[in-house]
Amino acid sequence: MLQGIAASDGIGLGRVMLLEEHSLAYSDLPPADPKAELVRFQGAVETFCKNTRKQAELLRHSAGHKEAQIISAHIQMLSDPYFCGEIEKRIAGGQRAEAALDQVSQLFIAMFLASGEDLIQQRAADVRDIRTALLCVLLGLKEIEVSKAPKGTVLVAKEISPSVAAGINPKNIVGIVTEIGGRTSHSAILARALQVPAVLGLPGSTTLLKPGSYVIVDGSEGQVLPDPDEAVIGAYRQRRARFLRRRRQLNKMRGVPTQAASGESYGLYCNISKPEDAEKALEEDGEGVGLFRTEFLFMDRDRLPGEEEQFAAYRRAAVSLGDRPLTIRTLDLGGDKALPYLNMPKEENPFLGLRGIRYCLQHPEILLTQLRAILRASAFGNVRLMFPMISTPEELWAGRALLEKAKAELTAQGIGYAGHIPVGIMVETPSAAILADILARDSDFFSIGTNDLTGYMMACDRNNPQISGIFSTLQPCVLRSIRHIIQCAHDHSIPVGMCGEAAADPLMTPLLLAFGLTDFSVAATSVLPIRAAISRWSLEEARSVTDAVMAMATEEEVSRTLSARPETQIL
Ligand code: PEP
Ligand code: MG
Repeated sequence: MLQGIAASDGIGLGRVMLLEEHSLAYSDLPPADPKAELVRFQGAVETFCKNTRKQAELLRHSAGHKEAQIISAHIQMLSDPYFCGEIEKRIAGGQRAEAALDQVSQLFIAMFLASGEDLIQQRAADVRDIRTALLCVLLGLKEIEVSKAPKGTVLVAKEISPSVAAGINPKNIVGIVTEIGGRTSHSAILARALQVPAVLGLPGSTTLLKPGSYVIVDGSEGQVLPDPDEAVIGAYRQRRARFLRRRRQLNKMRGVPTQAASGESYGLYCNISKPEDAEKALEEDGEGVGLFRTEFLFMDRDRLPGEEEQFAAYRRAAVSLGDRPLTIRTLDLGGDKALPYLNMPKEENPFLGLRGIRYCLQHPEILLTQLRAILRASAFGNVRLMFPMISTPEELWAGRALLEKAKAELTAQGIGYAGHIPVGIMVETPSAAILADILARDSDFFSIGTNDLTGYMMACDRNNPQISGIFSTLQPCVLRSIRHIIQCAHDHSIPVGMCGEAAADPLMTPLLLAFGLTDFSVAATSVLPIRAAISRWSLEEARSVTDAVMAMATEEEVSRTLSARPETQIL
């Protein structure tokens, strides 16, 4: 079994077709007539644009409008005066068209790769693709065609460019394996849009997988199984059938509102930890972001990120989401999230120590910088702000006071921010849960953090296997606290969401509907399954199950009762 990067979900079984790359060797001899050479280059550009338009049209049909833009963008890049102008200048100076194109492309590739930013680095792959396609035209080579591949083909290549991907017919190509590329590369995006299972970034695959041999591509696990025996093939065929059944059911949930069977609507958002995850949230049909865990911007580095860096990150997420909500949680350090460069003192009980808002209020300069960055980003989207680990009203007031200070500073400096930014809290400590009626007075919304709330309510470390049976959100004590928090939010007419893992647990769904939760925030991959889970319950049914469950004394009974309901089955 070979392990690569899981780039496009699903299982494909078929025979290997190796995509050999053309040799793009060209002569270095200077042309006799630079003017004629320029005309030859411009002719090649025209042919390239014509071919690209055709490929974009193909992609529009097979994958979609957004995906087609990936390659139409190549035409725009070619009209960049710096890129094309530089090539033409070199040709006018006596260079051969192929050499000028190659050298200028390499310069741009190196420049984009050096940027260190994901999105800009992606453009290096675009330039590589343009270079290959244009060199093919100049050298009179036919571009690699995959559109005629027979049924049951697994494409294996060093790298699959978007223009090659444009020719993929998903009825015939059952899998893609490449040596280069990751989950965010254009070929991965296209493979997902075409719903072809793909394993990318598998070094040596073009030599390890022999043309014509039978392989299994498991794009969900990132695995390739060469020459499987009958038993393995049978097992994977079954897994593929299950996968396709589930995909069909979930696809019905794409693009539809999140509603219970009786018609009530809910918000269904995503939890993210990097700005680029906001795009993934939308890809998975999330309706916004219910939790941006900002601490990840502070990790794997040797000093705090400054205001500009944070602002760029928050703005990127805000812009990607447009008018959909982006809920940014301020820094939640402590517990198991320590930053070595801050030299945080060692604590006897870190989970009961200087965590979340507690740390930030002791280091107001860190929180102030973050609040300024968040406020500035609020001018670019629909930003909500949330404080973690609140356990007393004073902490909320102090957080709000710092926010006002940050606003006053920005106003004095003439820097813009949104007129109204809702300020909410994570309800994840027992004290916040019990004091929810008080905290609701000064909160614009609640978000229930069941990961911590369960641990603190049950006095149970979720990572300790000896007591893992106690750590469950289905414990009657935890359910009662959730019901109480939601009731307090209703009494004060503020929205109440849930961003802990329990929001994505279909066993919890009827209870959350009956308690009156207003929105769910889950991992991007759980958006469609939870929308499906919500759609299976009418409020009446949910209330009746909840009434029964809330009278039970043990987690075991609650869990058994909910698991027996067909509506709670995981797809
Ligand atoms: C939670 O505690 O439920 C939560 C969402 O926060 P985190 O998992 O980041 O502690
Ligand atoms: Mg938490």
